Amino acid sequence: LSVPIHEAVLGRAAGYGDTVALVDGTGGTTLTYAQLDTYHRRLAAALADAGVRKGDVLALHSPNTVAYPVVFYAATRAGASVTTVHPLSTAEEFAKQLGDSSARWIVTVSPLLEAARRAAELVGGIEEIFVCDEAEGHRSILGMLGCTAPEPDVAIDPAEDVAALPYSSGTTGVPKGVMLTHRSIATNLAQLDPVIPMKPGDRILAVLPFFHIYGLTALMNAPLRNGATVVVLPRFDLDQFLAAIEKHRINALYVAPPIVLALAKHPAVARYDLSSLEYVVSAAAPLDAGLARACSERLGLPPVLQAYGMTELSPGTHVVPLDAENPPPGAVGKLLPCTEMRILALDDPGRDAAPGEEGEIAIRGPQVMKGYLNRPDATAAMIDDEGWVHTGDIGRVDDDGWLFVVDRVKELIKYKGFQVAPAELEALLLTHEGIADAAVIGVYDDDGNEIPKAYVVRQAAAPDLTADAVLAHVAGRVAPYKKIRRVEFVDGVPRAASGKILRRELRDRETRRNRHNGEYR
Ligand code: ATP
Ligand code: MG
Repeated sequence: LSVPIHEAVLGRAAGYGDTVALVDGTGGTTLTYAQLDTYHRRLAAALADAGVRKGDVLALHSPNTVAYPVVFYAATRAGASVTTVHPLSTAEEFAKQLGDSSARWIVTVSPLLEAARRAAELVGGIEEIFVCDEAEGHRSILGMLGCTAPEPDVAIDPAEDVAALPYSSGTTGVPKGVMLTHRSIATNLAQLDPVIPMKPGDRILAVLPFFHIYGLTALMNAPLRNGATVVVLPRFDLDQFLAAIEKHRINALYVAPPIVLALAKHPAVARYDLSSLEYVVSAAAPLDAGLARACSERLGLPPVLQAYGMTELSPGTHVVPLDAENPPPGAVGKLLPCTEMRILALDDPGRDAAPGEEGEIAIRGPQVMKGYLNRPDATAAMIDDEGWVHTGDIGRVDDDGWLFVVDRVKELIKYKGFQVAPAELEALLLTHEGIADAAVIGVYDDDGNEIPKAYVVRQAAAPDLTADAVLAHVAGRVAPYKKIRRVEFVDGVPRAASGKILRRELRDRETRRNRHNGEYR
């Protein structure tokens, strides 16, 4: 679909007229499609008037709000590329992203203004900081919506021009700026449309952040392209989330595994009327089949639908179709149209894995990124000469074409020559009723062997759960080489905003501890 992203999403907005496009889930503003259409055009004119030019990078630094999409599509209509920023970034992190992306403009909200100002000072080169609400000394987006200047006439080349510059989650290292063209994003929307159709009347809850590619696609671009109503929440709070489902009669949930976990296990769920829900989609991290089943059975819904993708793939490649009959438990989906996949043998990436064999997932298609920003080496390592993206994820495909994702190649634990997938052990731990959350990494024992270690959060109702009980629970259910060999109880599991376990942080913690003890490994 080779059109600018604002056309791909808002091309039909005027036609949806008085249908509500966005609702502030904390009370307050609503925006109809007609307003969204008019406001983003006026704001595009105002931004152009303020000096925003084609190719400029605008940093959008905000939690989810009703204004977020207005700013996003206004900026792309003015010809800018939008780099979406984690609202809780420190000034230093923000400055790094501003510098890396050569941003010239910032749009923020008054509670975050201080961080934005300091980041701008640190990096230099910022022309102006706008606010979505109001703050002294800064132009407000609200005021700019009255702009009467003519709409900017910017020629966009959808295949070449970068619409969005999201940063990857930083699960495996420093987040990388990902150049996504108008065409790659618009094409992915068109690929997703028929698989999980969204339509007027759908009520979507935007609880995952818009700044991450999953939220941007599933909770902003796709619903607004299809006339659905998006109820916006600024952050995840379980009670607020459940109350919003009840109040706004949400029918479709797009979430990440930690929310599936809460839906399956948390006592608060029973206090709300969630009968409006029709289906739940989970993506962004491994979801265990048992956990998915516990969630759908508790809510009385069809099986949780999974989707798989990554920032570099705009982001989707696999989805379990809404109309799939009996999708196999645990499958992340079938390949989207116009996309190719290979499973590369782990011992020899030059060879395709045998049918059913696990290997590295490689993808080729129109949704592949243009490249990483400023990182030609990383781009070359990711996309080979024939255009295949080497995802770093391990998967296998069954005879019917369903993909199962095992884990990341880099996070496999090598125990005495065997490969152990942390995601499998985490899923097993969560089947214990005394365990609220869990993460697994490889650590080194006194003999220098890598062994699986679990970080376990106890359920409030199980304060006496012992390490031995945890070890025994897993040992009784896996081959001996997969056994958990060490347990530490913790208050919480570190996660990225997209819901992924930050195993890297746990590994850093271990390294610091070893250093402290005078051990260097
Ligand atoms: P970084 O690349 O910066 O280390 P990241 O890979 O976590 O961070 P994202 O682009 O947000 O950044 O995430 C993509 C990754 O998320 C995939 O490579 C895969 O490991 C994981 N993922 C996405 N969907 C699923 C899924 N349904 N099941 C399992 N893993 C998934
Ligand atoms: Mg990645």
